[in-house]
Amino acid sequence: SVPLSFFGGIGGASKLGILVKGSNYLEALSEVDTVVFDKTGTLTNGTFNVVAIHAQDGVDPDYVLSMAAHAEAFSDHPIAVSVKEAYSGTIDQARIAQATEESGHGVSAKIDEHVVLVGNDRLMSAHGSNWHDCELTGTILHVAIDGSYVGHIVIADVVKDDAVQAISDLHAAGVERCVMLTGDRKEVARAVAAKLGLDEYHAQLLPGDKVEQVERILDSARGNLAFVGDGINDAPVLTRADVGIAMGAMGSDAAIEAADIVLMDDKPSNIARAIRLARRTMRIVH
Ligand code: ADP
Ligand code: MG
Repeated sequence: SVPLSFFGGIGGASKLGILVKGSNYLEALSEVDTVVFDKTGTLTNGTFNVVAIHAQDGVDPDYVLSMAAHAEAFSDHPIAVSVKEAYSGTIDQARIAQATEESGHGVSAKIDEHVVLVGNDRLMSAHGSNWHDCELTGTILHVAIDGSYVGHIVIADVVKDDAVQAISDLHAAGVERCVMLTGDRKEVARAVAAKLGLDEYHAQLLPGDKVEQVERILDSARGNLAFVGDGINDAPVLTRADVGIAMGAMGSDAAIEAADIVLMDDKPSNIARAIRLARRTMRIVH
C-alpha cells in the first residue's frame, strides 16, 4: 500500500503545477543529484527569430527565405515556425512536390522542381552539398538549392526568464551536476551554458546521441538522474532517465506521455521546488 503522505506530496506538487505520475517517482526524485536538460524549449523559450539572411553574391535574400519557408512548410519544429513567420508571403503548397524532415539535421524538399536543403552542416554533408562556415553566434540554417550553396539564415532564441535561477536553486539544493544536451552548434551551447552557470554541456548531438550521453552520465552518477525535455525527440531519453520530466505547456504529446513528471507551466525553476518537496515527503514517509 502507498503511505498517505505520498498523496500529500503528490497533491502538494500538483498545486504547484507539477504533475507526478506515481509515488515511486517522488521517491526517485528525492535522490536526484544530476539534472540533464535539453536546450531548445526547455532552457530557452524555443521561439526563434530570424535575425539575418546572408545570401551568396547574385542571390536574392528574399528568394533564400521563400525557398526555406516552403521547404519547412510541413514542419512544426520551432526553427521551421520561425522561418515561416519571417516569410511575409503566403506558402503556396502547389509549389511543394515533396518535403522530408530529417531529425537533428533539417529538411530536404522539392520546390518548383528544385531540390532544396535547409538545415545544419550535417544535413549539407549528408547530401554532399557544400556550405560556408561562419563565425556568427546564433543558430545557423544553411540553404542549398540543387546542390549549390545559396546562403544562410541566422536565427536566435533566448534563455527562459527563470533559467539562471533554476540552475542556482538546483546547486543550492545539492544537485551536483547540471548538464545541457543540444543538437545545436557548439558556439550557441557554450554561450547558453556560460550564461546559466551549467556544469557541463554537449553540443551537436543527434537525438540518438542524447540517449548515449545520458547512459554515459548514468554510469558515473552516484544518485539519480533526472532528464528534462519538451520535444518529440526527447521521448527516448525521458524513458531512459531515472526521472523523466517534460515541459507540459509547450511540450509535445510524445514527451508528456513518456515523462514521469510534467511541469504544467514550463518553468525550469520548478524542478528544484519539486526535488525539495519530494525530499520533504520522503522524510515524512520514513
Ligand atoms: P535541440 O537539441 O536544440 O532540441 P534538435 O535536436 O531538434 O535541437 O535539432 C538539432 C539541430 O538540427 C538544430 O539546431 C538545427 O540545426 C537542425 N534542425 C532540426 N530540425 C530542423 C528544421 N526543421 N529545419 C532546420 N534545421 C533543423
Ligand atoms: Mg529539442
